Amino acid sequence: MSDAQRLSDLLVAAGQLGTVVFTGAGVSTESGIPDFRSPGGIWSRYAPIDYSDYLGDPAMRRESWQRGLHTYPPLVAAKPNPAHVAIADWWRGGLITGVVTQNIDGLHQKAGVDADAVVELHGNAHWIGCLGCNARFDRHGIHTRVEAGDLDPACPHCGGMLKATTISFGQPLPTQAVSRAQRLHATARLCLVIGSSLVVYPAANLPEVTLDAGGKLAIVNYTPTHLDPLATLVSREAAGALLAATQPLVSQGLSSQSAQV
Ligand code: ZN
Repeated sequence: MSDAQRLSDLLVAAGQLGTVVFTGAGVSTESGIPDFRSPGGIWSRYAPIDYSDYLGDPAMRRESWQRGLHTYPPLVAAKPNPAHVAIADWWRGGLITGVVTQNIDGLHQKAGVDADAVVELHGNAHWIGCLGCNARFDRHGIHTRVEAGDLDPACPHCGGMLKATTISFGQPLPTQAVSRAQRLHATARLCLVIGSSLVVYPAANLPEVTLDAGGKLAIVNYTPTHLDPLATLVSREAAGALLAATQPLVSQGLSSQSAQV
């Protein structure tokens, strides 16, 4: 049996609101966004800036804004690939409860998943937040100020420090997002991991939350993960091709299921 058929059977068996999808960098590489950690990724060109350095050193903030002028436009230009499209289709069809992601690219929302249904563990690159008053700004507007020579832009409301709403090294994870992710995993009959090697916290243990609650695990990733031995399905296929092949099988599976009822 093909991986697509096995994945479809798991999704159909989990039923309506039965699946939580967990995604990492691997779901977005087919959209042209390199994994930050891979050779050629952002971190092989730029050393990451720690949160404490960002807060304490104006030179680091200026450096960060200058980098953003180069690293943000490719994110804006990136388009959802067939994996994002299939996930959005399953979300619209009520099959999945939400998407928990390590990605900051906003591609699940671009594909059509409601922003409310996407839990972003590492934040979102499309917004700028004020660390003083929590106001949010569109990133383009702030970049326009940087390009005009305002090299360490301050909040127009309170004069506070501005920062992209992504989570930096050394910055605490958003506790609300982590607890939402845990709830979604605890209530799922199936956790579908796509494109994550499950090495960093909390990614490393979220799928186990589903397993501990009696649910199943499916992993689609190029490389082995520490949870492969506990997964019902492990696929090394490319996420886009696999999910595109799975999509019509799920539709067939659901309609033949309802025909039997
Ligand atoms: Zn402010």
